[in-house]
Amino acid sequence: MKNYFLLIAFIANISVFAQNKSNIINVAEVERIITTLASDDMQGRRAGTPSIDKAAGFIEQEFKKAGLQPLNGTSYLQPFTMLRPKQKEVKAELDDVQIDANRVVIITSKNDLKVNEKSGYKQHTINGADGADIQSFFTKARNIVAANENTVVFVDQSLSAHFSRLPNLKRQIFSSSDIIFVLGSFTKEFTIKAEHDFDEIKYANVIGVLPGKSNSKEQVIFSAHYDHMGIGKAVNGDSIYNGANDNASGTTAVILLANHFKALNNNERTLVFVAFTAEEMGMFGSQFFSKQINPQDVVAMVNIEMIGTDSKFGKNSAFITGYERSDLGKILQKNLEGSAFSIHPDPYPDLQLFYRSDNATLARLGVPAHTVSTSKMDVEPHYHKVSDEVSTLDLQNMTEIIKAIAESTKSLINKKDAPSRVSGEM
Ligand SMILES: [Zn+2]
Repeated sequence: MKNYFLLIAFIANISVFAQNKSNIINVAEVERIITTLASDDMQGRRAGTPSIDKAAGFIEQEFKKAGLQPLNGTSYLQPFTMLRPKQKEVKAELDDVQIDANRVVIITSKNDLKVNEKSGYKQHTINGADGADIQSFFTKARNIVAANENTVVFVDQSLSAHFSRLPNLKRQIFSSSDIIFVLGSFTKEFTIKAEHDFDEIKYANVIGVLPGKSNSKEQVIFSAHYDHMGIGKAVNGDSIYNGANDNASGTTAVILLANHFKALNNNERTLVFVAFTAEEMGMFGSQFFSKQINPQDVVAMVNIEMIGTDSKFGKNSAFITGYERSDLGKILQKNLEGSAFSIHPDPYPDLQLFYRSDNATLARLGVPAHTVSTSKMDVEPHYHKVSDEVSTLDLQNMTEIIKAIAESTKSLINKKDAPSRVSGEM
């Protein structure tokens, strides 16, 4: 009897998905891809540095080998540039009274900026009640920035503590409109002058496409960020942040899903496989990407982050962030019924994981965009440490998770399901 049960356990361990037709998603491939991405040779894949180009080149090669089409023309790379501003001088007056420079936060791509009440800039106020809690304050501020119109925002003095955190919004910017936040108000006139220098920083997402058989307009996106933290202070002689779990694991999944769906060759909708850059710096890659697409065409986005360890729910399980924000989670669960794999709502709602990866960028545009993960975020010992290496991961379990993602999305790919849209402020 004992042996019999051992045998069952052994078979179950090999794969919970006997129906995995393509057999392309296997441990040897998982190991080959993740070991390459997380090797010391990739120098921690820090976005905006030459070392990440090697990773981009590898992913590009894998997409090509898989038979994906480039998004535009012949390149799988989606390059973009951001500006890192260096503020040289700021002068501001409200009703002829000069105010302290730290009461002004300016987002601009102009070297010389001069704005007053006659400049035709939109004016906006955030009053004490509106912005009382920091979450709603930043939601308002972010929405104003995202609207991308020349705007001056007057923030109530009572919100000075929140205001002091606004410079986080301007660490790096896309060349865009001028958005000026001022702590204070005016009755008749105001003047703001600023001088800036800029560094240009180059980035690239990597994107491959499988056009839909019967509906090429509707898209399902599989994504993962491929950047990590680069090189830092040495710990026990190791200074390279390999980012094996975060997020060579998710990138490996995207590459293998691309191969799998290409082999099946039956996707009714268009499948878009995206490796995002600069997630760790502020989700710049997904922000640029989201401006190049029509969010209405995106039926669902399955973002994949940190799937290299067992989840809180044990082997053959994962969780999805923002479960209640659309019914994508329910659809994935339905497609897994009868299998030994389970997908759960995010067990760490307090950590706000729904807002902490690239899915959030598209969710803000209404797309049912969620992240699938297995990370025990409350206790993950290697999270953002030099010790995040392949040797700490369970590649067998990770292989099952990738197969489960393939299986759980089948009704999205064959056009049978379309999840509800994400609505409400975020
Ligand atoms: Zn990550």
